[in-house]
Amino acid sequence: MTDIHGFLKHPRRPFPGRPVPERLGDWDEVYSGQRLLPLVSEQAARCMDCGIPFCHNACPLGNLIPEWNVYVERGDWRAAAERLHATNNFPEFTGRLCPAPCEDACVLAINAEPVTIKNIEQAIADEIWERGYAEPQPPERLSEKSVAVVGSGPAGLAAAQQLTRSGHTVVVYERADRVGGLLRYGIPAFKMEKCRLDRRIGQMRAEGTTFRTGVDVGGDLDAGDLTLRHDAVVLAVGAREQRELPVPGRGLSGIHQAMEYLTLANRTAEGDYSTSPVDAGGKHVVIVGGGDTGSDCLGTVLRQGAASVLQLDINPEPDEARSAGEPWPTYPKVYRISHAHEEARGRAGSDPRVFSAATLRFEGSATGRVRALRLTNVEPAERRPRPGTERVIPAELVLLALGFSGPEPGGGLMAQLGLRLDGHGNFARDEGFAAQTSHRAAAGTDGIFVAGDAGRGQSLVVWAIAEGRSAAAAVDHYLTGTTALPAPITPLDGPLTV
Ligand SMILES: Cc1cc2nc3c(=O)[nH]c(=O)nc-3n(C[C@H](O)[C@H](O)[C@H](O)COP(=O)(O)OP(=O)(O)OC[C@H]3O[C@@H](n4cnc5c(N)ncnc54)[C@H](O)[C@@H]3O)c2cc1C
Ligand code: SF4
Repeated sequence: MTDIHGFLKHPRRPFPGRPVPERLGDWDEVYSGQRLLPLVSEQAARCMDCGIPFCHNACPLGNLIPEWNVYVERGDWRAAAERLHATNNFPEFTGRLCPAPCEDACVLAINAEPVTIKNIEQAIADEIWERGYAEPQPPERLSEKSVAVVGSGPAGLAAAQQLTRSGHTVVVYERADRVGGLLRYGIPAFKMEKCRLDRRIGQMRAEGTTFRTGVDVGGDLDAGDLTLRHDAVVLAVGAREQRELPVPGRGLSGIHQAMEYLTLANRTAEGDYSTSPVDAGGKHVVIVGGGDTGSDCLGTVLRQGAASVLQLDINPEPDEARSAGEPWPTYPKVYRISHAHEEARGRAGSDPRVFSAATLRFEGSATGRVRALRLTNVEPAERRPRPGTERVIPAELVLLALGFSGPEPGGGLMAQLGLRLDGHGNFARDEGFAAQTSHRAAAGTDGIFVAGDAGRGQSLVVWAIAEGRSAAAAVDHYLTGTTALPAPITPLDGPLTV
C-alpha cells in the first residue's frame, strides 16, 4: 500500500493549469507542455488503499484506482500502465475529459479533500506514450467473422479495438470526413488536443481495424446491405439530435446550434478554414445553456476574442457544498468552475453565468441579424417568469447549447434496420446490448447491437468507452458462443447520482 500517513502529511494539490492569459492566446491544452510528475507521485501517496474503494465503484469502467496509486507512488510506471489499460482503452481521453465521479466518491472526500485521481490518471496515460507502453496488440489468429461498427466516437472506437484484438475483422464506418465523433468535432482542442486521438487511431490501424470515413450508413450505404456484408453490426452513432429554442426571433441570422459552431471551430483548428465561418471575434455573445457544451462554447468564444460573453442557465445557482439529498459517495450537483469559467473570470473579473434565466425572444436588426436577447428570471421549481426581471442584453452571436434528445430519427438507418426507440427516445436494446428491431430473429438477436449515447442518451466519454467494451463482449459472445472480454456495465447501469 501507499504511505499510511500520506493523506495526513500531504494536502491535496491539483496540478496547476497554465496561466489564463497564456491559455487564451492559443488552442493548446490547459496543462500543455508540462509533465505532471513528480507532483502526482506525492499526491498518489495520499491514497489510503481502502478495503472497499468507493472510487473504483463510482467509475463506470471499474478503473483499478487504488492499485495504480500504489504503483505511481513507487514510480513503477509499467505496472501502473498495465493496470490502467486493463480497464480503459483510452485513458488519455478520460484523464483529460472525465468529470471524475471517482473523486466525489473517494473515501477521503467524506471529511477531507479527495485524492487527485484525474491528474494521476492523466499522468499515467501520458507516461504510457512517453515510455512506449502503447504498442499495437494485433490478434494472434483471426476468427473469420467480420463486424461493422457504425460511428467512430469513443463508444465505436472502444468496441472496435476490443473486437479487433479478439481476432474479428472490424470495419468502422463514419459519416464525417475524420474519425473520432464528438472527440473530434465537439470537444475543443484546449480540452484534448487531436494528436491524442490520431495516435490511438494509428495504434488501432496497426492492430488491423479498418476505417471508412465519409460513409453515411442508411444514406450512402444501405444499412440492410451492411448486415449482409458483416456477421454483426454495432451501432454507435451517438445522440446527435439537438434541442431547439422555439421562441420569437429564432430565425434571425447569427443564432446557431452549439454543435454547428464547435464543429466549425474544430475544423478551423484542423486547418480546413483560415477563420471560422462563425467567429465570435469582436462580438457580444450569449450562450444559452449551462452544461458542458455551453462551457466548451465559452472557452472557444474567449479564444476567438469576443467583446463580451454571458452564459444563461435556466437552473438556479447550485450550492458550493453537497446538499443533504446528495450524500457521499454520489456525484452531486454543486457549483463547479470549469477551466473555461476560470478563463472568463480571469478575463472579465466576474463569472459569465446568469442562473435562473430564460430566453423570451430574440430581437433583430433591419437586415435580419440578431442584435439583442430579451430574458427573464424564473422561479426555481416551476420555471415561471419572475415579474419585474425582464431585461434586454446585447447579443450579436447566440449559441444554443440546450442538450440532445437522442439519436437522429431522420436518415435511413432506423427504417432500414427496423430499429425501435425506447421511452427516452434512444435506440431500444435488451440487457445484452442487442437492438430491439421490428424484424428481430426468433433466436433472440439478429446481430445488431447498440452502444454509447445512441442507446444511453447524451452522456460522458467514460460511459461511452464502458458501453463500447461491454457491447464488444456481447458481440464476441454472439459470434463465438463464449467470450473472455470484460463487460464493465449493462445498459441498465447508471451513474451514482440521486
Ligand atoms: C460539446 C460537447 C462536449 C463534451 N464534453 C465532454 C467532456 O468534457 N467529458 C465527457 O466525458 N463527455 C463530454 N461530452 C459527451 C461525450 O462527448 C459523449 O458522451 C461521447 O462522445 C459519446 O460517444 P459515442 O461514441 O456514443 O457518440 P459520438 O461521439 O457522438 O460519435 C458518434 C459518431 O457516429 C457518427 N454517425 C452518426 N450517424 C452515422 C451514420 N448514419 N453513419 C455513419 N456514421 C454515423 C457521427 O458522425 C459520430 O462520429 C461532450 C459532448 C459535447 C456535445
Ligand atoms: S477511495 Fe480514495 S483513498 Fe480510498 S482507495 Fe480510492 S482513491 Fe484511495
